[in-house]
Amino acid sequence: MSIEQDQYFIHTYDRSVTFTKGEDVYLFDKDGKKYLDMGAGIAVSALGYSNEEYKQALKDQVDTLIHVSNLYYTEPSVKAAGLLAKASGMDRVFFTNSGAEAMEGALKLARKYAYLKNPNSKGEIIAMNHSFHGRTMGALSVTGTEHYRTPFEPLIGGVSFAEYNNLESVEQLITKDTCAILFETVQGEGGIYPAAEEFMTGIRTLCDTYDIAMILDEIQCGMGRTGKLFAYEHYGIQPDIMTTAKALGCGVPVGAFAATEKFAVAMRVGDHGTTYGGNPLATAAVCKVFEIFEKEHLVRHVSQMGLYFRECLEKLAQKYPAQIKDIRGKGLMLGMEVLCPNAQVVKRALEKGLILISAGSNVIRFVPPLVIQKKHIDACCEILDEIFAEWK
Ligand SMILES: *Cc1c(COP(=O)(O)O)cnc(C)c1O
Repeated sequence: MSIEQDQYFIHTYDRSVTFTKGEDVYLFDKDGKKYLDMGAGIAVSALGYSNEEYKQALKDQVDTLIHVSNLYYTEPSVKAAGLLAKASGMDRVFFTNSGAEAMEGALKLARKYAYLKNPNSKGEIIAMNHSFHGRTMGALSVTGTEHYRTPFEPLIGGVSFAEYNNLESVEQLITKDTCAILFETVQGEGGIYPAAEEFMTGIRTLCDTYDIAMILDEIQCGMGRTGKLFAYEHYGIQPDIMTTAKALGCGVPVGAFAATEKFAVAMRVGDHGTTYGGNPLATAAVCKVFEIFEKEHLVRHVSQMGLYFRECLEKLAQKYPAQIKDIRGKGLMLGMEVLCPNAQVVKRALEKGLILISAGSNVIRFVPPLVIQKKHIDACCEILDEIFAEWK
């Protein structure tokens, strides 16, 4: 990074490249170098960078109305709420500006529900080790990676951590004050770990038995990424509360938490709010995204491309057993666990014009635009082949 570029930023990221333009599934830096994008702005830019219809919808909305606050209805927000509620199987939604804010809202809703049942409830929350839910104080409090949390303590109290995919470890933590069990349907930052079937259905049963809110974080794995619109559809269950963001607006900052009627009604006028959340510009994007997903059968495309991508990665794993330990994930949310340093692979790929992102300390994460084609997957795997060959 040049000192010049970093001078006025609080230094929380180690950045190198300056991107100036996007086209199709490629980004271009300021020297005109082309990069194949397998990161999609961290699982956000599902439509890639050249969807003219999406761009036109935003331009039109800019000309019509950008913002009025949540003191009033707007046409795009009403429409987007209906689309998201129907798509997620939920009854009511609340739009936010980010994933972390969606988590904050979900946690507040779970606590409010418990409070209405018993005003003395301690509102305890069970979250998972190696989870990631965002950087705000509430979201951080339920994030199960200590180095993210420790410097910022004290965080919100009443949070305990269980082992992901270990039902017994969750059950042991339940008390009369537990108000929510919270996890990612597929853990993202933690290393691309999908929830096991028995874990998912087991938690559903526990939450029903004890009247606890089951909260699923679909911020990264939702919006078609795993080959279903929301990843919990793979399990045939419905959470009580869910959060979404990232690809919900495909680049315009927007998130949401959604709930079933039973939980949603716990939030009353004055309990929660946001100035920008779900403004007409953001929700016009959401409406267009849902429309394009349906029209272009994008979710089906994801399952097909996901299978192909996985096969290609598995071939690499067979070729380089000393460097690649595991391939896992669902749809176009794939992880490659490596035995060499993942940061080095990411760095070398960038030099070769391939954008990858890491997850945890030993996983390379593939979360490309959902519109990618086989030829892009082939190109990505060729570059990976070159990189692993260099290290053989
Ligand atoms: C990215 C992410 C968040 C936080 O979203 P932000 O928009 O960065 O606040 C929360 N949960 C998961 C699973 C994520 O991947």
